[in-house]
Amino acid sequence: MRLVTGTISHETNVLSNIRTDLEQFRRRLLLHGEEVIDFFKGTKTPVGGIIDGCEMHGFELVPTVFAAATPSGRITDEALKTLLGEILDGVRGASPIDGVVLHLHGAGVSEGHDDIEGHILSQVRNLIGDSVPLVSTFDLHGNYTRLMVESADVLIGYDTYPHVDGYERGVEAVGVMKRLLDGSLKPTKAFRQPPMMPALQAQFTGRYPMSRLMEAAHEMEALEGVETITVAAGFPWSDFEDVGLSILVTTNDDRRLADECADQLRDLAWSLRRDFLVKPVPVREALQRVRDSEEGPIVLADIGDNPGGGAPCDGTVVLKAVLEEELEGGVFAVIADPEAVGEAAEAGVGSEVTVDLGGKTDELHGAPLRVTGLVKLVSDGKFIVKGPMGTGSESDMGRTAVVRVGGVDLIITEKRLQPTDLQLYRSLGIEPTEKRFIVVKSSVHFRAAHEPIAKEVIELDTPGLTSPRLAGFGFTKIRRPIFPLDVEMLGITELKAMDED
Ligand SMILES: [Zn+2]
Repeated sequence: MRLVTGTISHETNVLSNIRTDLEQFRRRLLLHGEEVIDFFKGTKTPVGGIIDGCEMHGFELVPTVFAAATPSGRITDEALKTLLGEILDGVRGASPIDGVVLHLHGAGVSEGHDDIEGHILSQVRNLIGDSVPLVSTFDLHGNYTRLMVESADVLIGYDTYPHVDGYERGVEAVGVMKRLLDGSLKPTKAFRQPPMMPALQAQFTGRYPMSRLMEAAHEMEALEGVETITVAAGFPWSDFEDVGLSILVTTNDDRRLADECADQLRDLAWSLRRDFLVKPVPVREALQRVRDSEEGPIVLADIGDNPGGGAPCDGTVVLKAVLEEELEGGVFAVIADPEAVGEAAEAGVGSEVTVDLGGKTDELHGAPLRVTGLVKLVSDGKFIVKGPMGTGSESDMGRTAVVRVGGVDLIITEKRLQPTDLQLYRSLGIEPTEKRFIVVKSSVHFRAAHEPIAKEVIELDTPGLTSPRLAGFGFTKIRRPIFPLDVEMLGITELKAMDED
């Protein structure tokens, strides 16, 4: 049996002023043909799982393209056309084929398509016809749409945020493909979109209420006849009609069971809605807690400037407060500022350097901050991930400098990235467990690696593109009413009356 695979992965924050062209994909990861296998084989990633799944079942796997860009603004039409073209050409070139297993994100928006995954899946479907099965894995932040659900035979989303089950979902996708090919699975799907759009912090699957919803889904997955269930938390900043929480139940040829499970999960999500509201801590209050604490590290999450959600990663709000408070023993991971990296590198290790740091991308994340410090290290910014997210894969921060300013180490990088692995620090000679506090630009993903070493985790109430204060963003295309944007309206409205299913 011969399967074709391909990946186009982007979480699009339409409010970001960074255009997502092919260069943005090249900067993060863009691989063609066999390069995909070489890069991912042996890694605990979704594509690593697809590769291993094919080996387990004796399937031949034909790779086409792997394209991922750090979350940013709309994908250019040209970039999408080029990348999708590579997948479609790959399918044509490999024909005759038995199936297609894709890995997509679910929250991609291009200039011409609000729902790029629906577009990709429908284009692949048009090419392969109805008789060739099409399966895809998705991120937990996917905004599922009817077009996606109708175009693929089975869709499988991550169950975790931080995303630590990508590999398992990849293996699962190939297992599902095998059952589609041998005729033992007749997928019957029920799709529900309760009017809810939780902020990222509330989507953390290690904490109530998201954990409750996932538990319920897993209990149902154990029922006879249920094949797979996806509860996707959605990504608000894609700002189109299908943004938000969605539920997709796939049974083996059992319409009633699919509908019952999907209705129950929808009702459960709705009943928990008020518990999805989040209350971040004011920055100065959090810094006082660091000062008062005898043990570290305390992890401070700058949730407003999370590059994993499309924020610029060069915000200075927290750094400014830390320097004003003269707090020592901290590390910042990371501040993306290629200009400052260049200046630090030019000054050289062991020298003092003065830079105007950060605040250069937009007006939402604080102004550039003039700092003077000691250049401790300059590196190529590459490391192999050892923690639970993407274990074994290579991470590339671009050229990176560590500059000691006051009592804190600033990790300044060329590329924007979320700190999801402790090797980020250790590859730079910084031992995170010895720090009094660690500032991470991340909403939730930092937890997988940082919670085991953290004395305490505090979500900071910082301004920015990924702030949980969703009502302030002026979204224009999200379906309304939706919780929590229209809290009062929904408080007096019946869910069933609003649900379109
Ligand atoms: Zn995600």
